[in-house]
Amino acid sequence: MKVIVCVKQIPDPALPGELDPSTNYLKRDDKLILDESDSYGVEMALQLVEAAGGGDVSLVSMAPNGEVGGLRTALAMGAEDAVLVSDSALAGTDALGTAKVLSAAISRMSPDLILAGVESSDGYTGTVPEMIAGALNMPSITFAKQIRVEGSTVMVQRQTEAGYDDVECPTPALVSVTAGVVEPRYPSFKGIMAAKKKHVEELDLDALGIDSSAVGKDGARQETIRVTDAEARQAGEVVEDQGDAHEKIIEFLGELKVI
Ligand SMILES: Cc1cc2nc3c(=O)[nH]c(=O)nc-3n(C[C@H](O)[C@H](O)[C@H](O)COP(=O)(O)OP(=O)(O)OC[C@H]3O[C@@H](n4cnc5c(N)ncnc54)[C@H](O)[C@@H]3O)c2cc1C
Repeated sequence: MKVIVCVKQIPDPALPGELDPSTNYLKRDDKLILDESDSYGVEMALQLVEAAGGGDVSLVSMAPNGEVGGLRTALAMGAEDAVLVSDSALAGTDALGTAKVLSAAISRMSPDLILAGVESSDGYTGTVPEMIAGALNMPSITFAKQIRVEGSTVMVQRQTEAGYDDVECPTPALVSVTAGVVEPRYPSFKGIMAAKKKHVEELDLDALGIDSSAVGKDGARQETIRVTDAEARQAGEVVEDQGDAHEKIIEFLGELKVI
C-alpha cells in the first residue's frame, strides 16, 4: 500500500511570528518545522502501512527556499521519501494555488491513499485537502479519527459533534485527519540519522508543467486585506461555591459542548 502524506512546513510557533508589512504575508524565511497538525497524518500513515504488512509512506510539501527541516522530522519518524515543491514564483500562492501544486506533484506518484491534516496551524483555511481531492478527481473524507483500509475500500470513523459517523469510499482517496487522534511517535536517534540519507526530490513549477501565472501572487484569489490584533484574553468567570458550584460548572461546560 502506498500512502502519501501532505506535510506543511511552518515557522516555529514557539517563536513570535512576523508579517511582512508591505504584503501582510507571514515571513517564512527562517527555518521551518513540521506542522504538528501533520504529525498525526504521518503517524496514521505509518500505522496503516504497518497494519497492511507492507508498503511505504511518502511525503509531499510545498515550501519556500528549498526548506526540508519539517520533512526531515517526518522522515525520521519513518516515512520513506519526500517530494518538495519549491519555486520563487510560488510566493503569495493562496490555498487553491497550493492545492493545484500539490495535486500536480501527487499525480506523478500513484498512491492508494492520501492523508492530510484537517487544517494547518499557521495561516489555516482548512480547504487545501478537499481541493487536492477535487483536482485529482478522487473521493475525500474529512475529520477522520480512525482509518482502516480493506482491499480497495477505506473505512473511516468521521468525527462529529456528537461522536462519530462510519463512512467508507473506494481507493484511491484523500482523507483528512483530525489533530490529536493518534500519538505521533518521537523520532529515534537511529531514525534521525537514517532521515539524513533519505531521498527528497525537489521540483519546481516547470517540472510540474504549471504556468507561474496560475499560482503565486498573480494567480491568487485570496488576499489579506486587513490585519488586526487578536482580542486580549478576558478575565475568567469566578464561580463562588454556595453549594451549587458544580451545577454551574456543568452548565458552563455544557454551553461549550465539552460535555
Ligand atoms: C498570503 C500568502 C502567501 C503565501 N506565500 C507562500 C510562499 O511564499 N511560499 C509557499 O510555498 N507558500 C506560500 N503560501 C502558501 C501557504 O503556505 C499554504 O500552503 C496555503 O495557503 C494553504 O495553507 P492552509 O494553511 O490554508 O491549508 P489548510 O487547508 O488549512 O491545510 C490543511 C492541510 O493541507 C495540507 N497542506 C496545506 N498547505 C500545504 C503545503 N504548503 N504543503 C503540504 N501540505 C499542505 C496539510 O496536510 C495541512 O494540514 C502563501 C499563502 C498565502 C495565503
